[in-house]
Amino acid sequence: MAAVLDGLRLAADIEQRLSAVIGAGLPVIGRPPGLAVLRVGDDPASGVYVANKEKACNRIGIRNLGAHLHARTPAQEVQATIERLNANPDVDGILLQLPLPPGFEEGPLLAAIDPEKDADGLHTLNLGRLLKGEPGPRSCTPAGVMALLRQAETPLEGCRAVVVGRSILVGKPMALMLQAANATVSVAHSHTRDLATLTRQADVLVVAAGRPRMITAHHVRPGAVVVDVGIHRLPPDQDAGPGAKGKLCGDVTWEEVEPIAGAISPVPGGVGPMTVAMLLVNTVVAWCRHHGLDHGLEDLVG
Ligand code: NAP
Repeated sequence: MAAVLDGLRLAADIEQRLSAVIGAGLPVIGRPPGLAVLRVGDDPASGVYVANKEKACNRIGIRNLGAHLHARTPAQEVQATIERLNANPDVDGILLQLPLPPGFEEGPLLAAIDPEKDADGLHTLNLGRLLKGEPGPRSCTPAGVMALLRQAETPLEGCRAVVVGRSILVGKPMALMLQAANATVSVAHSHTRDLATLTRQADVLVVAAGRPRMITAHHVRPGAVVVDVGIHRLPPDQDAGPGAKGKLCGDVTWEEVEPIAGAISPVPGGVGPMTVAMLLVNTVVAWCRHHGLDHGLEDLVG
């Protein structure tokens, strides 16, 4: 049986550490950290994600300074809102919730966020800093995966790592972070031939393909560490009543892979809570940095 990479538990530990940093910094700085989650339109999944982020802020004492704009708000007004948040001294972190409604271009709006307040680590400057190994806010999901791997004391130095997926949100920054930890990294994508031959070489396999249950026992070397970034809601069972919701699953077929893996992250309760935890980390680190305060969170922002 595989060890479980428990993201819920690690996220709770990180929240405790962040509460302590905020408690110590508050009397010095005189105001709590501020995070602005900017939501445009009414995408229902985004609504759930934003609510989870706001609840997490409330739990640890981050002030929520977000805004919810109508889907028909002109792009210039969304940009002006971002510029106001950039200029607001009470705001340490800004996150533009994606996806945006049809008709919006996310590139110029992400670029409008002050890179020093980029809580999501997706600004071009911060992706460049990651590429160059310079400090800066890191993309939350891959940073959360790294924290899970480190917590489990996964040997990364010299290991063979395979990342399935090459998105800017997950796969590409994930590969850079694993490489920075001295893993030898291969990146697979939808054009990769014979995926299973590649993934079976992995000591550490990170899957972010957005394809429900695509990774089976056939793709995994026994003893490998498997991190499942995917999250999907399956259709409800046929005999489920009206309004019933289907189960959540990842990109990995848990019941096949869990018996052979050395360690595996569950869905839900693996990478999802870690993504939120790293958003809080980026906000608190920015708050400390703006005020020249030590945060002691170097193990999470590497
Ligand atoms: P994405 O932008 O759709 O990218 C998917 C990547 O997977 C692409 O690079 C694609 O290749 C590759 N791919 C697709 N099918 C493949 C296949 N059959 N074999 C190999 N590679 C394949 O998705 P994303 O934003 O990276 O997200 C991936 C998954 O993670 C989604 O399920 C998403 O919901 C989830 N997610 C979870 C969290 C969390 O907090 N838990 C956060 C972010 C994302 P091409 O480049 O060739 O198209």
